[in-house]
Amino acid sequence: MANTKYIFVTGGVTSSLGKGIISASLAKLLQARGYKVTIQKLDPYLNVDPGTLNPYEHGECFVTIDGAETDLDLGHYERFLNIETTQANNVTTGRIYQTVIDKERRGDFLGKTVQIIPHITNEIKRRIMLLGNKGDFDFVITEIGGTVGDIESLPYIESVRQLIWELGGENTASIHLTLVPYLAASGELKTKPTQHSVKLMLENGIQPDVIVLRTEHKLTPEVKEKVARFCNVSKKSVVESIDVSTIYEVPIKMQAEGLDEVILDKLKMSKTKLPDLEPWKAFLSKLKNPRSTVKIGLIGKYTKLPDSYKSIIESFIHAGVVNETKVDLELINSEKITTENIESLSNLQGIVVAPGFGHRGIEGKILAIKYARENNVPFLGICLGMQCAVIEFGRNVLGLQDANSSEMDITTPHPVIDIMEHQKNISEMGGTMRLGGYACKVKKNSNAFAAYNTEKITERHRHRYEFNNNYIHDFKTAGMEATGINPNSNLVEIIEIPKHKWFVGVQFHPEYRSTVLNPHPIFIAFIKACLNN
Ligand code: GLN
Repeated sequence: MANTKYIFVTGGVTSSLGKGIISASLAKLLQARGYKVTIQKLDPYLNVDPGTLNPYEHGECFVTIDGAETDLDLGHYERFLNIETTQANNVTTGRIYQTVIDKERRGDFLGKTVQIIPHITNEIKRRIMLLGNKGDFDFVITEIGGTVGDIESLPYIESVRQLIWELGGENTASIHLTLVPYLAASGELKTKPTQHSVKLMLENGIQPDVIVLRTEHKLTPEVKEKVARFCNVSKKSVVESIDVSTIYEVPIKMQAEGLDEVILDKLKMSKTKLPDLEPWKAFLSKLKNPRSTVKIGLIGKYTKLPDSYKSIIESFIHAGVVNETKVDLELINSEKITTENIESLSNLQGIVVAPGFGHRGIEGKILAIKYARENNVPFLGICLGMQCAVIEFGRNVLGLQDANSSEMDITTPHPVIDIMEHQKNISEMGGTMRLGGYACKVKKNSNAFAAYNTEKITERHRHRYEFNNNYIHDFKTAGMEATGINPNSNLVEIIEIPKHKWFVGVQFHPEYRSTVLNPHPIFIAFIKACLNN
């Protein structure tokens, strides 16, 4: 394989322009031409990983198969590319500094003064090259979080400058994503913020090769021409990225704008094989032409920021397409659910209870589950959602008053969900949960088996608490059964109520594994059950 090419994606003017989607779309186009591609996200914040962040800070924490707690953009990379990412695909400043400081304490720097340049920048460069050095990829795309000009992203921009200089122009390309605002009063699209942002890049020693312009309105040729002239790039290197109804449309738009072509030209890579996007286009066409609609309630406590449930929301889009159904997913705040208003759930054809931490909002979740169980409404509980289903069943069917998870009530007389033995003495919060892929054996004659059509599955985890096996027998006798068990640890991974229309709780997170071309069987089966409701 030829040597790996490195593509850097930076952002300017504002945050939240969708660098992750642009990076994933370019990766998709290169992959569809037969190239091997991976994407990496560098996050300039000081947390070692986003595992300790409140979802309201940066949205969901995505978990990789090897158990890394990562930025939600990795979810986009996996969903677009149908690949598995790993710890190496997400690096934060906290992790960089931790590595450098650990080395300093070991004496690895032999008495030298440890500095941002070269020690921090060397560690950043090492992390960027790590993916490419394995020789598995034609392209490594590195997305740099934040906005150029931020103090905390300076060492990253400097590392990119050094790499471009070290590896040379044929091996590196730089894409800068900015915003072109529209001033309604004068009816004009403004390029000045982009010009300033590119000036900042130049101050830092990087001339962008391609400028992607986020815009709500079609760009005129004059606007593109102006950006080209003031930012020293050819006109075809100015790419419009206009708002679209679905993120899955972006690769098609980027292809029409020729983003993959300018990059391949810059990197002297062959363009002979055109992107094969047929399966992607078939997905898009079904997405845009659903035959039915199903209304599902997603009950959680972070409903003000849908990004907190990004992977679940996307999984419903993928699985909806398989069912040729538009999933109308209503985010419902569990803290607002009471016995007085519970009937408002009657307009839902299915109920999902979301993952989460801490006791806030769990009584509302338990009420919603009781409603789903008693009214035969299809139910899917994910992680904490599954744990709440166990608590509800313990309290209301087994009559175990005050049954709870020891996470919520350490003194509960009935810890139907309990902390794992090996978790008891852990005092640090970061990276200490049961994380990443674990095997599960699925029981035949269950809804789970009907969905997966196999007994052996591996799913990703992120939790500390587990079904308490002391209760497994009583639950089974009363009508709630464990239909998925970890064959190595005997931990319960899936619970079901066989008498119910479709009542499934999973201790793992199926949403981390759903992709456009490989939608997750649990979501597909759940939507089917809701459609029949
Ligand atoms: N808080 C629960 C636990 O730690 C569930 C976590 C989750 O939903 N991801 O076990």
